[in-house]
Amino acid sequence: MTTKVRLSEEGRFWNPEQFPLVIAGPCSAETEEQVLKTAHQLAQIPSVKAYRAGVWKPRTRPGAFEGMGEKALPWLQKVKQETGLKTAVEVAKPEHVSLALKYDVDILWLGARSVVSPFVVQEIAEALKGSSVTVMIKNPVIPDLNLWVGAIERIYSAGIQNIMAIHRGFHYFEKSRFRNAPMWEIPIELKRIMPQLPIVTDPSHIAGRRELLQEVAQKALDLEMDGLMIESHEDPSCALTDAAQQITPENLAHMLDSLILRQKTGSPDFELLLERLRTEIDKLDGELLQILSKRMEITDEIGAYKRDNNITILQIKRWAGIMQDRLSIGTNLGLDEDFLKDMLKLIHKESILRQTEIFNRNVEEKK
Ligand code: PEP
Ligand code: MN
Repeated sequence: MTTKVRLSEEGRFWNPEQFPLVIAGPCSAETEEQVLKTAHQLAQIPSVKAYRAGVWKPRTRPGAFEGMGEKALPWLQKVKQETGLKTAVEVAKPEHVSLALKYDVDILWLGARSVVSPFVVQEIAEALKGSSVTVMIKNPVIPDLNLWVGAIERIYSAGIQNIMAIHRGFHYFEKSRFRNAPMWEIPIELKRIMPQLPIVTDPSHIAGRRELLQEVAQKALDLEMDGLMIESHEDPSCALTDAAQQITPENLAHMLDSLILRQKTGSPDFELLLERLRTEIDKLDGELLQILSKRMEITDEIGAYKRDNNITILQIKRWAGIMQDRLSIGTNLGLDEDFLKDMLKLIHKESILRQTEIFNRNVEEKK
């Protein structure tokens, strides 16, 4: 996958050498008092650089609290004046964009539900044209990296230079401890294809409950994510939205203090050993790929043989036997059973695909 997005670092309003970017604030702006009280408390935490507050809330069912709308925007102006924090709101319609810009909001973000719809993203992108605001793009609710990248590209194509991504986890059908499965491999892949794009992890929407926030935040830092967006409310038990996952500014300060910041590089001795180990990994990966390629070549040969003798591709008994045998060898070698299953299934799927192609080729040749 290639992308044309080239971002500037000029718009960075935090110093990554000191601490990752922290954006904090309530899920929703509820009252002027709640907004200002929370903001003043958060402004005491040095690493908090921006204040988030949802003004238009996307609710699954109608009738729930849908945010205070335009009325809350002057409260955020006050936050800016009184605390110096940058302000951030979610925008889901062109009208939200023009109102947020009218009230000098510094950062606009696209929510996970909006990012699933290219039409919605395009409409927001059109409304952003000509503005120098910072835009954050949350991952779409479903685990589709291309949809996320596509939204970033649409915003970038509208002339927005200061873009960040927010990783807030994904809806997943399997039950997990999290409200939204983190699927770290997706933001990691985004980092690989867009290395200049800062990625802020949102532990609040991943965790869904405050007990898990620290674990998720630490994991984000261990994986070199660039920042954290954490929901904080002066009185979480009374919050009108996402009450279970919000924490007080005081608890946020404790949590941030207890996070361990890892160094990106170590001492010369450490670097030397790391380099040696990485060279070994590179060599092993090369061998692994050669063996895989050899295995596929033999699969092709078997495919041609089956085709010429009119035998079905899938031999279920053989596949069950392979699975059982390789799982036993692999687990004895200390490899994780689930990992082995996933890997064997992937190899088997590719073998079937290659054999199907060989069968089809023959059909076409006969035509
Ligand atoms: C939010 O940040 O409060 C929110 C609604 O998030 P998401 O779009 O990630 O669900
Ligand atoms: Mn929320």
